[in-house]
Amino acid sequence: MKLLEVKDMRAAYGRIEVLDGVSLDIEAGEIVALIGANGAGKTTLLRTLSGVHPLAAGQIFFDGVDVSAQASHVRLRAGMAQVPEGRQVFGPLSVRDNLLMGAYVRDQAEVPQDIERMLDLFPILREKQHLPAGSLSGGQQQMLALGRALMARPRLLLLDEPSMGLAPVIVQEVFRIIRRLRGQGTTILLVEQNAHLALTVADRAYVMESGRIAFSGDSGSVRGDPQVQKAYLGL
Ligand code: ATP
Repeated sequence: MKLLEVKDMRAAYGRIEVLDGVSLDIEAGEIVALIGANGAGKTTLLRTLSGVHPLAAGQIFFDGVDVSAQASHVRLRAGMAQVPEGRQVFGPLSVRDNLLMGAYVRDQAEVPQDIERMLDLFPILREKQHLPAGSLSGGQQQMLALGRALMARPRLLLLDEPSMGLAPVIVQEVFRIIRRLRGQGTTILLVEQNAHLALTVADRAYVMESGRIAFSGDSGSVRGDPQVQKAYLGL
């Protein structure tokens, strides 16, 4: 079953076209990677999906429903949650309150048990739950940003550059959690500069160039493509 279907998506900043007719789909339960050079439009694609950037043309279907005209909070309620590039946690608020903010669309009766689930998934956040989020390291903030998005119990997680600026050992930890989420049935669209890592964890991938999908396929065939190897895998 297609959980997400995007048809001919266009988006712009003023008169500058950034997405030039992007079509893609994601089956329920898949991890799909979106790779491509800086400025190819990957972040804009995620922001347009979640509804924080306007769709100029095209259609977005989520679970068979056309959400193209829906506001971002309506899409969030329907089950699309984004972890933004650069994490963007609320620095002065405690770790626990950041997690609570992720649950504002949820039935509040279930929230305490979900907070416990997050603190189990990320033990470091349990340890630091009463400290301001701004005092956490970059890796811990990435865990918190992930945990906050998961508090919405999303069916589709839009993950923007989770490895950015993190030490290799922390990146491994973040990707271990991504695999675990997939094991629990969360569908993930993963934007990642580190194409090698993204292709290791993903079922399929789309390669973006200048606002278009240049290539797509299962991770093995994308990894085996000579152009992808040259441009993104340093081979
Ligand atoms: P990166 O990995 O660097 O984030 P990306 O593939 O995610 O790259 P986008 O961030 O979507 O690319 O940017 C696509 C294009 O849109 C770039 O040319 C960028 O300069 C431009 N752009 C991004 N944000 C804005 C903005 N707020 N105003 C104007 N142009 C923007």
